[in-house]
Amino acid sequence: MKKGDKSLRKTEITLSKAIKRVIRITDSITVGELAKRMGIKAKEIISELMRQGTMVTINHPLDFESAALVATEFKYEVENVAFDEDTVLAASSGEKVTEELEGNLQPRPPVVTIMGHVDHGKTSLLDAIRQANVTEGEAGGITQHIGAYNVELEGRKITFLDTPGHEAFTAMRARGAGVTDIVILVVAADDGVMPQTKEAISHSKAAGVPIIVAINKVDKPEASPDRVKQELTEFALVPEDWGGDTIFVEVSAKAKTNLDTLLEMILLQAEVLELKANPDKNARGSVVEARLDKGRGAVATVLVQDGTLKVGDHIVAGMQFGRVRSMTNAAGKAVKEAGPAFPVEVTGLAGVPDAGDLFHAVDSEKTAREVSNHRQQKLREIALSRTSKVSLEQLFAKMEEGTVEELAVIVKADVQGSVEAVRETLEKLSTDNCRLNVIHTGVGGVTESDVTLASASNAIVLGFNVRPEVKAKALAESEKVDIRLYSVIYDAVNDVRNAMEGLLAPTLREKELGRVEVRETFHVTRIGTIAGCYVTDGKILRNAKTRLVRDSVVVWEGKLNSLKRFKDDAKEVASGYECGIGLENFNDIKVGDIIEVFEMEEVKTSL
Ligand code: GDP
Ligand code: MG
Repeated sequence: MKKGDKSLRKTEITLSKAIKRVIRITDSITVGELAKRMGIKAKEIISELMRQGTMVTINHPLDFESAALVATEFKYEVENVAFDEDTVLAASSGEKVTEELEGNLQPRPPVVTIMGHVDHGKTSLLDAIRQANVTEGEAGGITQHIGAYNVELEGRKITFLDTPGHEAFTAMRARGAGVTDIVILVVAADDGVMPQTKEAISHSKAAGVPIIVAINKVDKPEASPDRVKQELTEFALVPEDWGGDTIFVEVSAKAKTNLDTLLEMILLQAEVLELKANPDKNARGSVVEARLDKGRGAVATVLVQDGTLKVGDHIVAGMQFGRVRSMTNAAGKAVKEAGPAFPVEVTGLAGVPDAGDLFHAVDSEKTAREVSNHRQQKLREIALSRTSKVSLEQLFAKMEEGTVEELAVIVKADVQGSVEAVRETLEKLSTDNCRLNVIHTGVGGVTESDVTLASASNAIVLGFNVRPEVKAKALAESEKVDIRLYSVIYDAVNDVRNAMEGLLAPTLREKELGRVEVRETFHVTRIGTIAGCYVTDGKILRNAKTRLVRDSVVVWEGKLNSLKRFKDDAKEVASGYECGIGLENFNDIKVGDIIEVFEMEEVKTSL
């Protein structure tokens, strides 16, 4: 019976362990961290990965798939608990998948953008169509805002976006807002194809949006519609009666001729496109324009693209979230709902989103807040990765990418003579591809302010016979500033030149092993000066390379002559202990000096 109890308990333990064998990560995890969480040595993971054919270091990040793969080898499971925006938004869309399959999709109005060369009549045409007068009210007659309006032809609706040009159209598209279904290309019959006409064509084609050509100003005596048609054939825009498939309409915004024909043609094209949406779910769409209004706070014109937006809905738009307080349609009337393809002005967002931002109505404030926070977080990450500082190792790669055209350098040295020599030699290294710019020089150790300057200017720091101050070193690590220390000018110049040519060989970089502070000095006859020291960092090794640093300047480099703990010779002394140190052929040791021990290790260049 007792034996049975024991085995039962054993099973219990194994079970509870089995439950613990899940490691939760957010998208990625480093080799070291994964090892720690599995309670094994990083080495084991590294050799397992090597067996699988990848060489990694302890700090190497593993993505979810790779982490999951290695973890199974150690009988662990990896679960990705990263915030998945798409899943959250889909779950919050209020959509019933089965209903949509049963045909909940309903036809929606087309969304139209008018593009064309300046003064060809975009505003006038839109205005004529709306039977209102926008041109006169506009400052200088130039379209200022991205507005959106609905018009109706015999009960059928069309939504017009009044963009001030193709830049806005493409800027919105770059943000993921593919809002336009049809482009109306306005070409003045008395002017023909002009530079912005061509650009408008390119932008529409790049977006894959069909073009309807409106030849405007046909009321003018010098109008020559056929010339316009002729010119447009060059861009594969060929009218149907010439054997092509592009719809052309000859209009006059001024005389209001053929405007209904243009609308007919838009509706015809829309039918071909079979534009549909499901009005019976939470709204999704794009921000057309947004601004801060003194009285009403953030005001955004949004175009609903799917679903129905209602007053009181929780929404997230780009980085911003909030609750719809009021909605106004294009005619200035307050509305309670807006369905697919309807533009409305919305108040209630906590901040002003950007034009082109996507918006979603979601089930709860919590979801809206979470999505907004997640987006802000992501933006910060992108901003951080963008400002990653330049290093000699990445210089060539960045030059090739075109992201670096200038290498900014800060030079610090022990004497003014070296500073000048380095500056002159470096500046001669400038090439057509990369200019070398010495932005700051100075005598003495690398200071915090040097690192701050380097960080802000994306510069590297070259030091000659000097050391970074402790705080400067820590700051350089957190700011990712590349500090390179040399004792020979030639080496530094060579490294920079090679980095610019993409030939930076595996370089020997020193690895600091430890540092001590000199607290007392003794003179011993026939032996010389012995320093009574305290190990502040790392450990001191009897046989390692050594240097003596005074006020951040390297005074001497060489080897230890002796290392003692009390009266005994020591091979190494660890941090927090006192020791006696003698330097080989060097006696000028002073209280306050720093003795560093280091070794050289090979650093592979990652080009
Ligand atoms: P946009 O820069 O493309 O928005 O062009 P506008 O709508 O501001 O019009 C530019 C100029 O052309 C204005 O002086 C209009 O009065 C004039 N205009 C526009 N459409 C017509 C038209 O159909 N016939 C004539 N004669 N003039 C027009
Ligand atoms: Mg205009």
